[in-house]
Amino acid sequence: MKIIDLRSDTVTQPTPEMREAMSLAEVGDDVLEEDPTVNKLQELAAHKIGKESALFVPSGAMGNLVSVLTHCQRGDEVILGDRCHILLNEVGGISALGGIHPRTVPNEDDGTLPLDRVERLIRGPDIHYPPTRLICLENTQNYCSGAPLPVSYMDATASLAARHNLKIHLDGARIFNAAMALSTDVRELTRQADSVMFCLSKGLSAPVGSLVCGTRDFIHKARKVRKMVGGGMRQAGHLAAAGIVALEKMTARLKEDHDNAQILACGLARIDGIRLDPKNVKTNIVFFELNHPKTTPGEFLERLKSMGIKILLIDRGVFRAVLNRGVSRDHVDYFVKSAQNILQP
Ligand SMILES: *Cc1c(COP(=O)(O)O)cnc(C)c1O
Repeated sequence: MKIIDLRSDTVTQPTPEMREAMSLAEVGDDVLEEDPTVNKLQELAAHKIGKESALFVPSGAMGNLVSVLTHCQRGDEVILGDRCHILLNEVGGISALGGIHPRTVPNEDDGTLPLDRVERLIRGPDIHYPPTRLICLENTQNYCSGAPLPVSYMDATASLAARHNLKIHLDGARIFNAAMALSTDVRELTRQADSVMFCLSKGLSAPVGSLVCGTRDFIHKARKVRKMVGGGMRQAGHLAAAGIVALEKMTARLKEDHDNAQILACGLARIDGIRLDPKNVKTNIVFFELNHPKTTPGEFLERLKSMGIKILLIDRGVFRAVLNRGVSRDHVDYFVKSAQNILQP
């Protein structure tokens, strides 16, 4: 049976063009900065994101960790959302490995952090306080239905940060999805941030890797932090080659995932027992809640699986489906029909 996998966009397989580029890549020792393909990817990423420089890292989690460790000293405080990936899904790395103190603000459903609350949390010089150093934002904001944060919000956050002499780190794992959803150049969404992490390994379909982007000086420091956390790679050009194809060829295709997400959301929303507002679905992530008299969330998950459909059960009755290159329009129709068969037999 063909498996339709919507657990994440990380499940995407590399394209034939990526596989060919990987096998033919010219490589060298990247710890010595002598891998021409890694260097090319880093230049391309810096250009696309609108920063001076970029650094190839093995994962998004390492990219966020390296960025926060580069901005902050032990004992510094970071303000971030209570539904952000750095807080929830990165094993507490910034505090466990960096001694950095997270201060959370509840994310609004549109993914933003209310800036009046952020401002109230910024610490003064009192002897009892850790120094506030950094604000972290996530765009798109995964656990807020993959909401894209608009340029106006990025601008407002930047002006707040400037007033208080704080830096901004942007977890842009899916920043190209945000740019696509907002019909804007990605640079409009990154220019307010001092550092940006984005993933090649999600909707862009590369097998491995993320980039950290920032000023030349920031990336110089980040390179040493990457080495410290074990992320110095050698002939990494074989991986970077797929990343170059991802950046050059795969950003435009994200529209297809967004369109399929909308079709899926509208289809599921019509089924009794499923709660979901398609208006909240703006990118490739569909969250919905199951509240059905006869079918428990666990049963629903298993029944879908037996029909070849994999999604994630995130929390009591809350499911996540992430559209990706392996999921076609026909697969979406099959998913909706299967859900109907299970819940409205
Ligand atoms: C996937 C993701 C990351 C990093 O993920 P890795 O699996 O470590 O590459 C970071 N932030 C967000 C919002 C993500 O969705």
